[in-house]
Amino acid sequence: MSVSDNIKYFLTNEIPSNVKLIAVSKTKSVETILEAYQSGHRIFGENKVQELVDKYHALPKDIEWHMIGHVQSNKVKYIAPFVSLIHGVDSFKLLQVINKEGEKKKRKINCLLQFHIAKEETKFGLDLVEANEFLSSEEFENLKNVCICGVMGMATYTEDLDLIRSEFKELVYIFNQLKNTYLPNSDFTEISMGMSGDYKIAIEEGATMVRIGSLLFGARNYIQ
Ligand SMILES: *Cc1c(COP(=O)(O)O)cnc(C)c1O
Repeated sequence: MSVSDNIKYFLTNEIPSNVKLIAVSKTKSVETILEAYQSGHRIFGENKVQELVDKYHALPKDIEWHMIGHVQSNKVKYIAPFVSLIHGVDSFKLLQVINKEGEKKKRKINCLLQFHIAKEETKFGLDLVEANEFLSSEEFENLKNVCICGVMGMATYTEDLDLIRSEFKELVYIFNQLKNTYLPNSDFTEISMGMSGDYKIAIEEGATMVRIGSLLFGARNYIQ
């Protein structure tokens, strides 16, 4: 099956219509992404700033680009002009930089707050205490060029499906807490969780966005 067929199959059989598919195209060539684009799919995710910028310039402009990886503050300016959604906002400082770059570009930049839900040390993310602290601050209220659209998280890389499920439940709990406390009638609607290995559980637990790479594009070869 071609990449385009994979995407069509996925959208028809695996993903409910209320869940958005982010096709994670990191490390894949412009030609392969164009092949995927032929399916009609328009939402793609990348995890490195330079790669995202290069692909943005090389590919059709109706693609909705999602930044799903860790973003360094000094690199926000490169994606600020065009990015549709930044999934990995893991500090208030980063949010403030995104706001500043949004101001310069006269855009409101969509963001998700990334929470650390995994039992692994290696993954980035906020905890609820940190988030509560800045969401209740005056500085936060003054940010006019960012929109907090929801939350994002990554489960532990494990075979333990109960652990994965409990981590996704935790993210949903965090989402509800924040929605009720700070962001009730806003655009705060998205829960980005689930990858190739755990998207089924994520959807069962209430994901509104899944980020899927290898199941659509095949395994990644990092030594290219
Ligand atoms: C690479 C990546 C994915 C997709 O991973 P697959 O296992 O290939 O589906 C999802 N989310 C993030 C943050 C990633 O870096």
